[in-house]
Amino acid sequence: NEQIQLARRPVGTPVMEDFAFVEAPIASPEDGELLVRTVYVSVDPYLRGRMQDAKSYIPPFQLGEVISSGVIAQVVESKSDQFTKGDLVLGALGWQRYTITRAEAVRKIDASIEPVTLHLSMLGMTGLTAYFGLLDIGQPKEGETVVVSGAAGAVGSTVGQIAKIHGARVVGIAGTAEKCDYLTEQLGFDVAINYKEEEVKAALREACPDGIDVYFDNVGGTISDAVFPLLNKFARIPVCGAISSYNNTEVEMGPRVQTVLIKTSALMKGFTVGDYSDRYGEGLTALTTWYKEGKLKYEETITEGFDHIIDAFLDLFKGANLGKSIVKVSEI
Ligand code: NDP
Repeated sequence: NEQIQLARRPVGTPVMEDFAFVEAPIASPEDGELLVRTVYVSVDPYLRGRMQDAKSYIPPFQLGEVISSGVIAQVVESKSDQFTKGDLVLGALGWQRYTITRAEAVRKIDASIEPVTLHLSMLGMTGLTAYFGLLDIGQPKEGETVVVSGAAGAVGSTVGQIAKIHGARVVGIAGTAEKCDYLTEQLGFDVAINYKEEEVKAALREACPDGIDVYFDNVGGTISDAVFPLLNKFARIPVCGAISSYNNTEVEMGPRVQTVLIKTSALMKGFTVGDYSDRYGEGLTALTTWYKEGKLKYEETITEGFDHIIDAFLDLFKGANLGKSIVKVSEI
């Protein structure tokens, strides 16, 4: 069985040598267990944080531990009466071709949803993150201006569309012209700003003549610095991610935001999707309904092959993905 382990803790931007491809024997499932074959692996920016030996909302990977993330797998052998061979399951599973898992650690997925990868993207973790972060914290109202950074990624692209559904004017910030065209032409964003080509502060001022009511932050850093001066009274800022700083080796100093928050009475709130675990059903129902009504579109960047999981992970920090990044490891 081929596995990908954390070989050493990355310093700065992770490199291939931080990971080890290792062969290990495959055991047989015992009572209450399943043997599953990995089909699709989700690669996510938050995994970078788990590679550091630091306290967080989720324990760090240990050296020599198999990396794990959201995985869709197919049951090969079942010693549980809840599952039969061929079932597709979703769980937090290892980056390995085969896994022995407790049956209760995975859940059967609704195979009527096509493609099944949606369970890892818009109808899965990243969709729920967008849904709860935007609606619970951001609370966009009709006619308000919502700005989203990391706008062409998995979370950001869903955030912008949900904001449109709620009648907001939506401005996205992303890293290529192709991504910006996708946002305005395919997803209905009102304006898209290419932060690598444009002066973000000036572009935002032009794109947001009435100021900014909601800033859904996926990236932090200088992009967020450009947003803060434009916040309106009672603005809301769901702090979802800060990918621009995940590979920093030194603490970055930027403009301090306290004065802006005081002057605007703005609410800035960090969250993780897990905060809403008791409401996932509500979120999935809403997202699935909008998807079936054609109100939510999605894009997935699918990389082929177990050997390319690390490449796909590293590509997140280069902005190579449009929409959700997923690796296809085997056929269903
Ligand atoms: P994405 O699909 O958005 O992929 C990452 C994207 O980030 C890249 O495509 C790239 O797009 C952008 N990016 C990379 N480096 C930088 C940089 N230095 N500055 C600005 N943008 C950069 O990933 P997700 O949608 O899965 O995650 C988006 C954010 O949300 C991440 O910060 C992640 O950690 C966070 N997150 C938080 C969750 C929570 O529970 N709080 C749950 C899930 C995700 P571009 O070409 O535009 O630069």
